[in-house]
Amino acid sequence: MDVRIIFEATFENGTTRKRPLGRFSRPFRSTQPEGFGMLLEDAKSMLWPLQQEILLDQIQQISVASRVCPECSRARAIHDYRTRVPDTLFGRFQVKAPRIRRCACNAKSDAALGGPLSPLTRFFPDRSTSELRRLQAELGARHSLREAARIMEIFLPCAKQVNTSLRNRFGKIAREINDSEYAESAVSSAGKSAAPLPVFLDGAHIRS
Ligand SMILES: [Zn+2]
Repeated sequence: MDVRIIFEATFENGTTRKRPLGRFSRPFRSTQPEGFGMLLEDAKSMLWPLQQEILLDQIQQISVASRVCPECSRARAIHDYRTRVPDTLFGRFQVKAPRIRRCACNAKSDAALGGPLSPLTRFFPDRSTSELRRLQAELGARHSLREAARIMEIFLPCAKQVNTSLRNRFGKIAREINDSEYAESAVSSAGKSAAPLPVFLDGAHIRS
């Protein structure tokens, strides 16, 4: 048996786009227990191009929609294209994204707001998807950071998880949680206590 995976996207205007994503085979006569059904490696090799296709289409849609000025509905000019490297659970991708010039209809506030707009920034804060950061935080809280990185790489076609960058991201998330909790408690206790210090411990298995 040969399996061919085809990606098909249907857009709001009714147009569709099809792309072959990949294929794998399961020859009937040579099927072994370890070749039964879809394998982890098959899934990982499919998820990477699938994520890429979805991302590229979404970025294209966001870029087109962002050109429309919310004030006067005219199309805003593209200032330039910048390379962005969004990091996701299913891989890290290099994409070109436009920066949009602010509309002349709003010249006064434009001067105050600054340069061209980057429509993708709000979708990839910290250059990563929220789902990736959430899983890194969850696994990092349950395991040593090195082990968390290893688990992610076993199951996902994500980019190489360097435990030091995982630690930095984990620390950043801890600070964000701390800041949001402190902000809530500060409202109720009207500044009676000092800001708590966030602490996290990275465990490790030591042989012998
Ligand atoms: Zn305008």
